[in-house]
Amino acid sequence: MKVIDHIRQAKDTLISFEILPPLKGKTINSIYEHLDPLMEFKPSFINVTYHRSEHVFKKKADGTFDKVEVRKRPGTVGICAAIMNYYHVDAVPHLICGGFNKRETEDALIDLNFIGVDNVLVLRGDAAKNETLFEPDPDGHRYAIDLLKQVVNLNNGIYLEEDILDGFRTKFSIGVAGYPEKHFEAPNMNSDLDYLKEKVDAGSDYIVTQMFFDNKKYFEFVDKCREKGINIPIIPGLKPVTSKKQLSIIPRTFHVDIPDELSVEIMKCKTDLDVEKVGAEWLLNQSRELKKAGVPVLHYYTLGKARVISNVVKQLL
Ligand code: FAD
Repeated sequence: MKVIDHIRQAKDTLISFEILPPLKGKTINSIYEHLDPLMEFKPSFINVTYHRSEHVFKKKADGTFDKVEVRKRPGTVGICAAIMNYYHVDAVPHLICGGFNKRETEDALIDLNFIGVDNVLVLRGDAAKNETLFEPDPDGHRYAIDLLKQVVNLNNGIYLEEDILDGFRTKFSIGVAGYPEKHFEAPNMNSDLDYLKEKVDAGSDYIVTQMFFDNKKYFEFVDKCREKGINIPIIPGLKPVTSKKQLSIIPRTFHVDIPDELSVEIMKCKTDLDVEKVGAEWLLNQSRELKKAGVPVLHYYTLGKARVISNVVKQLL
């Protein structure tokens, strides 16, 4: 079922989770072990992230280095099939521009359609580790909107091969990303919102936000979106802080602020277990306020922290 239909049919705020494919070498059981404690909350859908390949240097016997391309977390399409089959839950694979050409994207969309996936979250992806700015594949997409248009085309039966005249029309429900604290490359919030509006006008059904730790930022973002004429559901993305290190890792990686009140409490903690308690309490309060405000879905970035999130959602419901 499509995410947008879950939202339309819901009588209350829904729950959804986001997972990462395991590192290459692990089995699908690591996904089941991660998800098992979360399934009692009957998530409406589960997102599975996509990771581009990266270049690494491998030292050879003669002391020189070989540059090789590795994908550390493959398996997004397979994981979607596995969790849909095992848990009977809707899966939302992330699709990224980075590292893919249009043909590979079309083939992935055909595979997803064949395994019964009705949803995609369409993203640009970040720059490769060795690049300062995002560079698309020579025959790929530069912005999420370009990838989105390819999915919309397939939904209209338009394939890359022009001689496919009566092509099957896929029915993907399309989500896109939004940034309550602005995308870090955007010159200002207004321009970021203008591009978000373009993604909405091009056919996205809903927005999932970058994580935030101050609900005020989400509410202000929703207001600004509505002023721009963006009227689709805006799903808040949430994550607990679980270690002191994250006080600098999260802002550096995701370009979001950690509120003073939260960082002060975390700095007082003696162990990471204490930090988890503070982070969980904060997440619970955020979730309660958002639910009370009637957000469509609470979307949790689980990132290896299923136990913390499970405790939070248990207290919430
Ligand atoms: P875009 O919408 O293309 O925007 C990128 C930047 O370009 C913005 O600054 C925007 O203002 C600007 N822009 C947009 N359109 C135009 C245009 N036409 N002309 C000029 N400028 C423009 N990354 C992964 O690699 N894998 C994942 O699975 C993944 N999942 C994510 C899930 C969520 C909910 C979020 C919020 C992010 C996720 N990311 C993921 C990270 C994401 O790929 C990065 O944040 C990326 O830098 C931007 O992606 P986007 O889709 O927002 O890009």
